[in-house]
Amino acid sequence: MPLLAPPLPSVCRPQAKLAPISFASPFASHPNRSMTLLQQAKFFKSADRLGDLPAPSGVEVAFAGRSNAGKSSAINTLTRQNRLAFVSKTPGRTQLINLFSLGEDRFLVDLPGYGYADVPERIRRHWQDVLSRYLIERPSLQGLIVIMDVRHPLTPLDRQLLEWFLPTGKPVHVLLSKADKLTRQQAAASLRSVRAELAAYGQCTAQLFSSLKRQGIEEAEAVIRAWMLPA
Ligand code: GDP
Repeated sequence: MPLLAPPLPSVCRPQAKLAPISFASPFASHPNRSMTLLQQAKFFKSADRLGDLPAPSGVEVAFAGRSNAGKSSAINTLTRQNRLAFVSKTPGRTQLINLFSLGEDRFLVDLPGYGYADVPERIRRHWQDVLSRYLIERPSLQGLIVIMDVRHPLTPLDRQLLEWFLPTGKPVHVLLSKADKLTRQQAAASLRSVRAELAAYGQCTAQLFSSLKRQGIEEAEAVIRAWMLPA
């Protein structure tokens, strides 16, 4: 199956849904530099268009994913903050790009989830435009974390997202989320197949991740740290 399938994304307004997982962190402190970096995350601002973003002078790592893939839970897990990624979750509220500051002109960027049903065409088009332009044009964007449910990776909308971003040549790291929902063997098979499909793109890596089981945190942190704090 080709990676770059053409369907249009349905990006936009969240529906009522279950809250993201937010577990009390067993890590009060940690000597690892990346944990310190991500734990610093503080809500900075929301934007519903590119013009509302801060000037692109800093360094950004963006999180994207299909609605319900586990993106908010992953952000909360990685930053050790139980409610950081709740801000955009109010049902019925227009979805936004949310920036979290990591200090010194570094930002985590929580992009609007895509694939929501029943989104008015006008709003869907607005977010399709904002998301694609952000991914293609944002000079401060260093790399993209894409959250995909380990049971349904590389959906047509995930492929559309990659189609926009891969031509930039910037790196993509896929978190195959909810790995706890599969047996170890099934999860490993899903990871193998995603890695095989992305192998043609030298800039793509992938790993298993579970907010519930706190699996894959160090691996993901190391990737983000390398993008944010290049040696
Ligand atoms: P988002 O829409 O991508 O931000 O997804 P959320 O983080 O809100 O998660 C969607 C649903 O998946 C919620 O019901 C979460 O509790 C659940 N979820 C998220 N991460 C995990 C995980 O690692 N394991 C399991 N079993 N459920 C998860």
